[in-house]
Amino acid sequence: MLFAPVLGRRAYGLHIMLSTVDRHLSTLSRRRPSAYNLMQTHYFATGNGSAMVLPSKLPDRKGIMTTDATLQDWQQQLSTQSPKDILRFAHKQFSSITISFSGAEDVVLIDLARKVSDRVQVFTLDTGRLHAETYQFIEQVRKHYDLDLEVLAPERERVEALVREKGLFSFYEDGHKECCGIRKVDGLKRKLATVDAWITGQRRDQSPSTRSDVPVVEADTAFGSPEHPLVKFNPLANWSSQQVWEYIRMFDVPYNPLHERGFISIGCEPCTRPVLPNQHEREGRWWWEEATLKECGLHSSQD
Ligand code: SF4
Repeated sequence: MLFAPVLGRRAYGLHIMLSTVDRHLSTLSRRRPSAYNLMQTHYFATGNGSAMVLPSKLPDRKGIMTTDATLQDWQQQLSTQSPKDILRFAHKQFSSITISFSGAEDVVLIDLARKVSDRVQVFTLDTGRLHAETYQFIEQVRKHYDLDLEVLAPERERVEALVREKGLFSFYEDGHKECCGIRKVDGLKRKLATVDAWITGQRRDQSPSTRSDVPVVEADTAFGSPEHPLVKFNPLANWSSQQVWEYIRMFDVPYNPLHERGFISIGCEPCTRPVLPNQHEREGRWWWEEATLKECGLHSSQD
């Protein structure tokens, strides 16, 4: 037992809750000693061992979530639930949670999240290479939902160095990863270092070669660490493109006007093109590269 608290009757309920936390922490201490130490230091102090000093705030789910068993429980519990229920669950569990916004799916997430929580946080990555229509779309969404939208720009020094060394279209010659790393992944890392969980619009049917196994909730091993465990929710993992667009039409959700011109999956202007009927949506992204390489690093631990 981690604590030996002396508690009054009024605190009995809290004692029960902390006992549960204690069990989870014990598991954490075996699996992730450094994360456990951080949790223990940050959230609790036990004084002389006979009395407990209550934390200044109740423990967030951060430490608890790092256990594989908890994540498996949640995955099992949520895998058959609706995106709206998954979003409600996510916002109940975490106070520090944000939605990543770029495409049509993400506006569906924002629309649904606004129905279950009054503290929806949203960010988007401005690579500096988006279509004019996409910038207008971002602004339209900001106004439509009255969002406190965080627009993250890449680091100027790194962009300037890349362009000076390799020009403005290096991705056509040596692949998109370097440019995506500077213009997207760096900003994402900065943002994710400030939250305990994030929400993405990933769907299994978006890419047969890279997203076919996307779970509705997972430990983010690409951007999380034992010192800063991070959880990723993918509430639309089970939805098809058709379901996303049915929702958009049914609830008049704003969408990027480029969709009306044959674009399906929309990224930066030089790396996105419309697709033909029956072509997969991912074929419009980085079309000069192998299908298995078509991720920008936002969901891959390799970048
Ligand atoms: S999508 Fe293209 S332009 Fe945009 S960051 Fe990646 S490589 Fe650079």
